[in-house]
Amino acid sequence: MKRFQESLYRFMSGRYGSDQLNMFLLVLAIVLIFLNIFIFGNQILSWIVWIILIYEIFRTYSRNIYQRRIENEKFLSLISPIKKRYLVIKNNHNDRAHKYFLCPSCKQMVRVPRGRGKITITCPKCANKFDKKS
Ligand SMILES: [Zn+2]
Repeated sequence: MKRFQESLYRFMSGRYGSDQLNMFLLVLAIVLIFLNIFIFGNQILSWIVWIILIYEIFRTYSRNIYQRRIENEKFLSLISPIKKRYLVIKNNHNDRAHKYFLCPSCKQMVRVPRGRGKITITCPKCANKFDKKS
């Protein structure tokens, strides 16, 4: 078992491994597989799933770590607005004492006390002013 671990370690050294983009691709592939089984039953969709999985495996075992990092960073900046919007919705749901907004100009999340009526919020990051109902 120890020898197996060592050889696995040697095989993986210098290879990229997993990151957020790979996790996303894996989850996307699984979701598409289920959608295809239960709803679409589409040949083209199953090819797309294969392409996604092959790309995911290629990225995991790639030795071009620099290029894979760039891809992951692009992916993270692409999903960042969606993530922020989700966080705002989640915080607004969980935190009953405050209300959360995204600054319209720089997308910074700002928190204000709830129930103060219509207020003007100054963004702490870019000093942009915008009106919101708290
Ligand atoms: Zn701002």
